Amino acid sequence: VRARVMQVEHSPSIRYDDIGGLETQMQEVRETVEMPLKSPEMFETVGIQPPSGVLLYGPPGTGKTMLAKAVANQTDASFIKMAGSELVHKFIGEGAKLVRDLFEVARENEPAVIFIDEIDAIASKRTDSKTSGDAEVQRTMMQLLSEMDGFDERGDVRIIAATNRFDMLDEAILRPGRFDRLIEVPKPGIEGRKIIFQIHTREMNVSDNVEFEQLAEMADDASGADIKAICTEAGMFAIREDRTEIGMGDFIEAWEKIQSESNTDGDTAR
Ligand code: ATP
Repeated sequence: VRARVMQVEHSPSIRYDDIGGLETQMQEVRETVEMPLKSPEMFETVGIQPPSGVLLYGPPGTGKTMLAKAVANQTDASFIKMAGSELVHKFIGEGAKLVRDLFEVARENEPAVIFIDEIDAIASKRTDSKTSGDAEVQRTMMQLLSEMDGFDERGDVRIIAATNRFDMLDEAILRPGRFDRLIEVPKPGIEGRKIIFQIHTREMNVSDNVEFEQLAEMADDASGADIKAICTEAGMFAIREDRTEIGMGDFIEAWEKIQSESNTDGDTAR
């Protein structure tokens, strides 16, 4: 079961300079996750405890997973990922057991960064906590909080959670000593979009006529993941026409295609 729901990567290949437009978020993640892993003695000398958990929140595809992976890379840590939805099970005690396994795997792979995506799946405000499914989810969350409480002795394990649904979260997980450092990861602004276009075209054979400024302006409201999709699609347009160079027209067509797709599948979140 472990192998199926938990994803373990040793020192993932994402680096900070693969991430565009999130300088302040990166700075905060470095202070709260990287520093405690790299220089725990600093915190001891100063006499403060590093934040237990860091919560990244914002729309889908904005770089939350990338930030967590980049920290793991920078600290040569294992990256252990689990989706909150994987922790929601029908059988009593299964979710709590997976949480225990998660922390055990992290300890076996120290230093480690635990990344729990979709934390809202186990930590939502409940409208009716009397139904049995909800009670089980509640127990899973309690197990997570209790693992986090025993953190001091844990040493080289840091925990990052992410959600697209900040408004849905149960305040209990945001209390001091839990996910007490909140970092908003928004969609990129125009400058961010320009940098993200540059990042994703690094390896592409882009024509001289491509204006990144203009692309950034065009892809208004795009997330980082959307920009990546535009670049790939632009490359596909070139391949379809048997060209090896990608021009401005390809990017424009790609954007139009991606926009029309996201309008028809009713995905208003992006
Ligand atoms: P979700 O909430 O859907 O899990 P996320 O915020 O974790 O999304 P990521 O998985 O980090 O998003 O991003 C998905 C992909 O989009 C990345 O692999 C990358 O290619 C691209 N991307 C997203 N944000 C950025 C960014 N700020 N800079 C560069 N690339 C980005």
